Amino acid sequence: MEKTLSIIKPDGVSLGLVGEVVKRFENAGIKISAMKMIHMTKPQAEGFYAVQRERPFFDSLTDFMCSGPAVVMVLTGENVIGKNRELMGATNYKEAAEGTIRRDFATDIEKNVVHGSDSSDSAAFEIGYFFNQLEITG
Ligand code: GDP
Repeated sequence: MEKTLSIIKPDGVSLGLVGEVVKRFENAGIKISAMKMIHMTKPQAEGFYAVQRERPFFDSLTDFMCSGPAVVMVLTGENVIGKNRELMGATNYKEAAEGTIRRDFATDIEKNVVHGSDSSDSAAFEIGYFFNQLEITG
């Protein structure tokens, strides 16, 4: 069993998509092992996206991520890192496959509703960034 971190970004929360995204995970047989709503500070968003520090959109992305509440989740399942990335769709919603979360709901390359870890190393870092062991079930 694999674990990954999912975030419903501030645009997803303000568009009322929390239930919709959770439903898609559950319908895909993915287990939600931890979940909470947070409102990141700018330094917390910068720490989370530290690997993106050199990218031209870093300041805008981290402003966006602390612009409102977000929902962070630990997802558990077989191949859940890849499965979640499939459900999310490509970073650019215009290139995302039909039926994916980003294709259906994203409004911008930055405001793309969801985040998902892209490797087991990033999943370990990202889960530990938001959750301690006592908060993660199963
Ligand atoms: P992801 O793994 O699909 O989330 O994509 P990346 O790791 O490449 O980028 C992280 C996040 O940065 C994306 O989810 C977007 O919110 C944002 N992002 C990616 N590319 C761009 C871009 O070209 N412009 C802006 N403004 N934001 C971007």
